[in-house]
Amino acid sequence: MPSAKDYYDILGVSRDASPDDIKKAYRELAFKYHPDKNPGDSEAEEKFKEATEAHEILSDEEKRAQYDQFGSAAFAQGGAGPQGFGGAGFQGMDLNDALGAFMRAFGGDSGMEDLFGFGGGRGAGRRGGARRGSNIRVRLKLTLEEIATGVKKKIKVAKLVSCDECGGSGAKPGTSPKTCTACGGAGQVRSQQSMGLFGTFMNVSPCSACGGTGEVIDEPCAKCVGKGVMRKKETIEIDVPAGVSTGNYLPIQGAGNAGPRGGPAGDLIVMMEEIPHKLFERHGDDVLIELPVSIGLAALGGQVEVPTLEGKARLKIHSGTQSGQVLKMRGKGVPHVRGRGSGDQLVLIKVWVPKRPSSEEKKLLKKVGELTDKKIPGPGRPGHVR
Ligand SMILES: [Zn+2]
Ligand SMILES: [Zn+2]
Repeated sequence: MPSAKDYYDILGVSRDASPDDIKKAYRELAFKYHPDKNPGDSEAEEKFKEATEAHEILSDEEKRAQYDQFGSAAFAQGGAGPQGFGGAGFQGMDLNDALGAFMRAFGGDSGMEDLFGFGGGRGAGRRGGARRGSNIRVRLKLTLEEIATGVKKKIKVAKLVSCDECGGSGAKPGTSPKTCTACGGAGQVRSQQSMGLFGTFMNVSPCSACGGTGEVIDEPCAKCVGKGVMRKKETIEIDVPAGVSTGNYLPIQGAGNAGPRGGPAGDLIVMMEEIPHKLFERHGDDVLIELPVSIGLAALGGQVEVPTLEGKARLKIHSGTQSGQVLKMRGKGVPHVRGRGSGDQLVLIKVWVPKRPSSEEKKLLKKVGELTDKKIPGPGRPGHVR
């Protein structure tokens, strides 16, 4: 089971750190622990990977929000956390990924020149090998009832999948891509750069001969014209945990667009959207409902049936309940998405007054009016005026 990681701790920043603070903190750690500056030091390498992982999550608005809500379990591979939270795969980031991410973060940074004595150049940090497919964002509309219980939802997503004709290689069936001779199949070219004080720095850039894929295709597949991908509609089942709210994201690793020529798929990012409810108004994990009651019930008390997210429930109205009073039904709200328990249902009592009273109502209400007018506290004591 993956251990819970505190990415803020790793970078030494507070939970409300700005993107700038995060970048600065990462920069400091990454430059300190960079493997090229600590050759053979596995502890430094671990620290470098860890800081890079933390930065990858916290520098991405979506992933940071996800992390803030669900912790690092949200990014764990399988294991902990509700299903469907299949992570972005950062647990155990390998060194190549970390170096690539580092270059993406600082490759085009002019500060790099000051420190390392060279300019990485934009795009130089693109990871070698087959490119990763892009992420897909979809909105998922949920009713409050679905949110209250958690729900499995099926959604149709139009996306790029591996070409079924060539199996994703992009090469005409019967032929196969050849290893790129320029980069020896690595997809990237490494060159040593002098960095003055720090010795040499390994600069990694994608191979221009093969576009970073490590392979060249002589005869492209006719179906996908060598891209290795094709469009397809797929149904994906989403396991929505109880208690989510609008603005929550669920990243599903590998459910996004397939990468060109066998590259890994991007993520499917499912954005939760709560459909406004006819009866309930959500306030955090509490739900508020207005309940009209008769003058008699408010004055004398009694039991009523009130709709809740899980069906009807009984509520006791005490005698002398005032219009505008809020009664609490504990635990009848929305479950907390983290941890146990639920919010409450708040019932706003509205004493309902008949608009067109019948003659009998008129008679009785008149009597009630005469008797109660004298007892109304507060300014004015209106009384009957004819
Ligand atoms: Zn194909
Ligand atoms: Zn190449």
